[in-house]
Amino acid sequence: MANEPAHVTKTRSLCRNCGYEAPSGADEWLRLEVPKLGRMTQCPSCESTDVVTGR
Ligand SMILES: [Zn+2]
Repeated sequence: MANEPAHVTKTRSLCRNCGYEAPSGADEWLRLEVPKLGRMTQCPSCESTDVVTGR
């Protein structure tokens, strides 16, 4: 039986460059199609791709 923190009800993504945060998969996030790497999430605030996506 999995122990999941009760306060984590939605996965969120966080930009490690500027600290921008929004729900994972939200329209706010920009998406980049990168050959070989696939789809990456890009921060709409600073355009960094150093985004930690929630699981
Ligand atoms: Zn950012």
